[in-house]
Amino acid sequence: MHTALTSRPAAFNGVRPRSHGAGARLLPAFRALVPVSQSVAAGATEAAPIDGRALRRSLNQTGRYVRQPTNDPASQQLMDEHGVGYSTNGLVAQMRTQGNVWKQGEVTVKLAKAYGYCWGVERAVRMAYEARQVHPDRKLFVTNEIIHNPEVNKRLTEMNIEIIEDHGKGKDYSQIRSGDVVIFPAFGATVQELNDFRNKGVQMVDTTCPWVAKVWNSVDTHTRKQFTSVIHGKYSHEETIATASFATNYVIVKDLKEAQYVCDYILYGGNKEEFLAKFAKAVSKGFDPDIMLERVGLANQTTMLKGETQQIGKMLEATMMQKYGPAEINKHFLLMETICDATQERQDALYEMVADPEVDFMVVVGGFNSSNTSHLQEIAEHKGLPSFWVDSAARIDVATNTILHKLAHGELRETVGWLTPGKPVTVGITSGASTPDRAVEEVLQKVFQIYDPNFKGIVPKDCGPMPTPEEEH
Ligand code: SF4
Repeated sequence: MHTALTSRPAAFNGVRPRSHGAGARLLPAFRALVPVSQSVAAGATEAAPIDGRALRRSLNQTGRYVRQPTNDPASQQLMDEHGVGYSTNGLVAQMRTQGNVWKQGEVTVKLAKAYGYCWGVERAVRMAYEARQVHPDRKLFVTNEIIHNPEVNKRLTEMNIEIIEDHGKGKDYSQIRSGDVVIFPAFGATVQELNDFRNKGVQMVDTTCPWVAKVWNSVDTHTRKQFTSVIHGKYSHEETIATASFATNYVIVKDLKEAQYVCDYILYGGNKEEFLAKFAKAVSKGFDPDIMLERVGLANQTTMLKGETQQIGKMLEATMMQKYGPAEINKHFLLMETICDATQERQDALYEMVADPEVDFMVVVGGFNSSNTSHLQEIAEHKGLPSFWVDSAARIDVATNTILHKLAHGELRETVGWLTPGKPVTVGITSGASTPDRAVEEVLQKVFQIYDPNFKGIVPKDCGPMPTPEEEH
């Protein structure tokens, strides 16, 4: 069983969790859906206010909105052919059936207990494939990379699904016309984007992970109850941009240090200019820390460390308790369970692996712009275990025994003679949450080839279909 399949909200089968706390007073500034604009800026802070909750409800009523996969067999078959889903008969699938270990000549491979595709990412890719199947003659666009994986995005491009990226000047959606199909990626889209596309008359395929939507629901609740959202995330990350767009007032903190700064400001006050300068790109428009930190609710970017988000929640709770007293805590602090375990599970599995004395070095597979993959590489480096992070097997040259790999802090490094054929070795391997199993299999294939030039590949063996999330749930 794929470990990531356990990572999902308790109360859905492709249906978004409900918002909590209905009946709270509505903020007057957020009642109307704004008119259509011709193009959509990526930044959430510049857009006109929109009632995110009402907007999301209205999407269902358009008849042009899909938010669940159909598990169409033809799309599944194509995903298998392209190697963009879970492995069902390759090396990774076979390793899964024998305790995540494989021995190939001198090479022993240990696969982390939790690795690779999380549930939400596989679901998003599946929905994109299904959209192409259902609309073979229409123009298809994705409002960003569907997931942070170059191979998957290349496949989509080859299927004539155009990825619209922001190259620093905002995204240009002007080429999209009524009748085209627009796919929203796993980490969501901003309320401005959703609103524009709803009004533009396009067919919408919303692959937003239900865990991310759950965070949006909590932010909705903050807004309705007039709380400020403290978002644990990176202000420039697409998911956090989308989440912030659902909030009225927000501040984004990237780590414990920034959270502590906010807590200290709440307790002791401080220099408002300094606060606003420090969070210049990470607060809502017109943010006033002297007024807007009286009632706060916690929200999170789902790929941040679970433990860190929980710690920030405790810090905020303790701060409000100290300032207003235990009896008043519910009036000043709001916490809803929105943390997805997928990222944490992969990190926990890696901590376990780097503590294994038999593992000589690590290979980490995942997109170079993938935040959760960089954390995996970081764990191995901190442990002092040699670790090679690659985004695909193309970074490995078998003939020269060379690897072009990335370090956690961003440097690309070429290492010649990274493997030592003739000497038995144990390789630990893991992959980020947006990495298909095929990428891991291709990397290992090259490792085996370097050790044995006569290696011809792993014989496929049907390990049975992976349980779909619905079956699993
Ligand atoms: S990591 Fe993100 S996309 Fe994956 S299951 Fe969690 S919330 Fe969903």
